Amino acid sequence: MPSAPISSAFPAGTILGYPRIGRRRELKKAVEAFWSGEIDGAALEAVAAQLRQQTRDRLVDLGLGRTDSSIPESFSYYDQVLDTIVAVGAIPGRFASLVAADGTLDLAGYFTLARGEGENLPLEMTKWFDSNYHYLVPEIGPETVFSLAGDRIVREFVEAKAAGFLTRPVLVGPVTFLLLSKASDGAPGGFSPLSRLDDLLPVYAALLARLADAGADWVQLDEPGLVSESIDVPRAETLAAVASVYGLLGRLTVRPALFVAAPYGSLDDALPVLASTAVEAIGLDLVRGTLPQAVPGLDGKTLVAGVIDGHNIWRGDLAGAIEVAEGVRVLSDSVSVSTSTSLLHVPHDVLDETSLPGSLASWLAFADQKVGQVATLAQGLVNGRAAIAGPLAEAEAALAERHSAPGVRDGVVRRRAAMLTDADFSRGAYADRLRAQDAALQLPPLPTTTIGSFPQTGDIRRTRAQFLKGTIAADEYRSLMRAEIGRVVALQEEIGLDVLVHGEPERNDMVQYFAENLDGFAVTENGWVQSYGSRCTRPSILWGDVSRPAPITVDWSVYTQSLTAKPVKGMLTGPVTILAWSFVRDDQPLGETARQVALALRDEIGDLEAAGIKIVQVDEPALRELLPLKKRDHADYLDWSVGSFRLATAGVADATQIHTHLCYSEFGVVIEAIRNLDADVTSIEAARSRMEVVQEIEAGGFDHGIGAGIYDIHSPRVPSVGELTTLLDTALESIPERQVWVNPDCGLKTRGYDETVQSLQNMLAATRVVRERL
Ligand code: GLN
Ligand code: ZN
Repeated sequence: MPSAPISSAFPAGTILGYPRIGRRRELKKAVEAFWSGEIDGAALEAVAAQLRQQTRDRLVDLGLGRTDSSIPESFSYYDQVLDTIVAVGAIPGRFASLVAADGTLDLAGYFTLARGEGENLPLEMTKWFDSNYHYLVPEIGPETVFSLAGDRIVREFVEAKAAGFLTRPVLVGPVTFLLLSKASDGAPGGFSPLSRLDDLLPVYAALLARLADAGADWVQLDEPGLVSESIDVPRAETLAAVASVYGLLGRLTVRPALFVAAPYGSLDDALPVLASTAVEAIGLDLVRGTLPQAVPGLDGKTLVAGVIDGHNIWRGDLAGAIEVAEGVRVLSDSVSVSTSTSLLHVPHDVLDETSLPGSLASWLAFADQKVGQVATLAQGLVNGRAAIAGPLAEAEAALAERHSAPGVRDGVVRRRAAMLTDADFSRGAYADRLRAQDAALQLPPLPTTTIGSFPQTGDIRRTRAQFLKGTIAADEYRSLMRAEIGRVVALQEEIGLDVLVHGEPERNDMVQYFAENLDGFAVTENGWVQSYGSRCTRPSILWGDVSRPAPITVDWSVYTQSLTAKPVKGMLTGPVTILAWSFVRDDQPLGETARQVALALRDEIGDLEAAGIKIVQVDEPALRELLPLKKRDHADYLDWSVGSFRLATAGVADATQIHTHLCYSEFGVVIEAIRNLDADVTSIEAARSRMEVVQEIEAGGFDHGIGAGIYDIHSPRVPSVGELTTLLDTALESIPERQVWVNPDCGLKTRGYDETVQSLQNMLAATRVVRERL
């Protein structure tokens, strides 16, 4: 059967998506105003429509075509996966009352899926591939009824058309949608959401028909699920799904031309499958992935070479990028260029930054600069490199300047890293450490502690902001913070905790705080990126060799220790987490950068130890998160990530106790890595997972301390003494008492004082109950 006629060629240059939160976080502010009832749905829709129009105008200014389908229609009020759930009518049963008689969901209902309501828990949220963006997890079961229930994507295309634009609607592809879904609560054991593919496909077909009727020439279907090996579905099933989906959609007679994009890695064996279908264009991520081998069927399709990194903020090597794009011509005569991923992961515009150090700004490309780069490369592909000689030379000059700029390479840092030996990564035998630490610390059985931060009150935030603005002097700031630390120490003593913390009032964020105090990092003013929903983060930029100009936390910890006879735990963020939550230099392997951060932390830990601090916690909540998508990359990652933690922590004496905190408990393939960290105490989430993971860790022969995170701090709810006692008992069923610590499952900074105090009191009461029985 002939495929649908292609009404127009794929544009020479495009991007896979653009940030939607707004240059000044306008969408975030409007959405939150809607949630709090300050504005109504119509007002929110007006802000959103205006943002979409500004984006289209801006993209044309930056060099994309107004009417050639090069502008992706990639807006979302909250999340693109949630949008797909709503579009295909896959609303979980518990939210049925939100759905109107015609099957549609209004804006308030849409947000309720994301945020929950009363007893109805929101959809689960999890990381989008190897980015720091989080999506909402669809819940699919045998009972899910798919129907074309949401047409926002069509309306936005029509809205653009009315304004004189021919844009390209973007959808999450059906295979990825189901791969990312989890089985709904009522589904029978072993149910696979992918088994519902045949029922879902007609909805996509109907949506494509609607888009074609509305005049769309091209539609983009994002299928990053095809590049990931971390998904539980057997590969053969995924490939069969690809063949069936794109075979069927390709044969539709009423549809736009199909552009299947595969960001975040190589398609590998999914490429020949896609090539054998009638899709008109395939997007290859040539930043994370590599140029594939020729396979039958590619010639005749447009290959969209994702050569501009959508995932980082570097201006990069433009000449290298065009070379890679030109290389794709061995696979097909028709080659276009694009970003490797959506630009969702980068801030809007470098020109919004006014205080970056030195010539850092000229080495960077945020979303707007990357769009410009795509436009330049497209021109180069069409008219030859000579046509873009100017921009290529400028990019090359910036790169050369960056390479030799002061601070990018620091001889002292490099020599130190080069001289490391195996001994720098290992501590003494655990049995010796345990003996020395028991003698030094004299803790009761089941020692109690917290994860670090205490509630960050309005007062604390105001004091920090005033200090930053310069309206209060350093002395005053210090005494206000010390007063806060004094209150937190007194409270912990009153509650009866065994190992105390200072409460982290001086920290805005666990990574940014260290970035601000280490050389090699810069902080932006407007570099916001969406983390999930209306939540944005402002990652620091790690641009040069990292070193520690002066001790960072030592004064705070020493002051805290001076207030109490109980041991105070020093509190640091680990190298992997610092990297994971920053924009990191792309000119050397991550492992090398991690080592530099580790050495700076090693010095900090050494100074804490020398100043009399007996316990230091090094948080690594991002250890699992940075795990590469491809299994072949796991060993290398685990080697450098675990190595950097060990390097940071192995410099201390046997008697000094190292803790780490991991936030979660689903360790999966990193479980062995966690043992290899060799921390004396590892605190994990245990309230919701009911300590299951502990058995797994134990099974591998883990005899170090485990901090059972029995108080769930992610909710304002106060857990009862009975419930906490049961959790502790469960822990003690699988771990010897000697190993067990008792703590909340994360920091308390987002909690209020009332619930925190009551919960910690209950945690101590439960500990006493269990101790009595020992
Ligand atoms: N020490 C940090 C805190 O208590 C840990 C935060 C985290 O794990 N995300 O806030
Ligand atoms: Zn945590």
